[in-house]
Amino acid sequence: MAIKRKEKKSGGLKSLRSSGGSSVETSPLRPQFITKRPPCGDNCPNHNQIRKMLMTVQKGVEYGKTLDQTFEEAFYIFLETTPFPSVCGRVCPHPCETECNRKEKEGPVGINKMERYIGDYGLEKGLRPKKLTEETRPERIAVVGSGPGGLSAAYHLARRGYPVTVFEAFPKTGGMLRYGIPDYRLPQSILDAEVQRIADMGVEIKVNTSVGTTSPTKT
Ligand code: SF4
Repeated sequence: MAIKRKEKKSGGLKSLRSSGGSSVETSPLRPQFITKRPPCGDNCPNHNQIRKMLMTVQKGVEYGKTLDQTFEEAFYIFLETTPFPSVCGRVCPHPCETECNRKEKEGPVGINKMERYIGDYGLEKGLRPKKLTEETRPERIAVVGSGPGGLSAAYHLARRGYPVTVFEAFPKTGGMLRYGIPDYRLPQSILDAEVQRIADMGVEIKVNTSVGTTSPTKT
């Protein structure tokens, strides 16, 4: 939020008479509030609503919410943009923090750590994604590849009521998240749990199915 001075053409201080009869001076300069996109969220590939999430956590108790209510709310803020807060909280190189306004002062806000904590909270509590509609769309969608991009697309489509089938050539889902990142950085159990949450929304996932070369098999 920037404050910009707005100058009136007349300029200078005005003298007004108050109700008590004494005179008070007022300035024609007025603050003008300009809403800007926060640089952290702007630099996040998921466009996570980082400012909203951090404010929710910071103000929760002040607004009379329990910690559980606060963390649950923060979890669903992440789920508006990504199905993988626990995964991203472990493996994302956090470009959001590179752009954090606090980095020149006491250091950037630990956004990545917050994401991991909130994501793990959601897994631990078994929180389920909320669909945006109860309607089931007539169009069926095929997604080729169950990497983070494919599964994110499936997740957002399923939230909007589309029946989705994901085709994966490998025996397991996750793409580079599973086959390109070592377990000590991303435990398979975390990846499995977040993929399962997508499958539980009704997304059908067919592994060992290379599109164009293999007949689909039931998994
Ligand atoms: S750490 Fe999370 S919020 Fe930051 S850039 Fe990565 S995905 Fe976005």
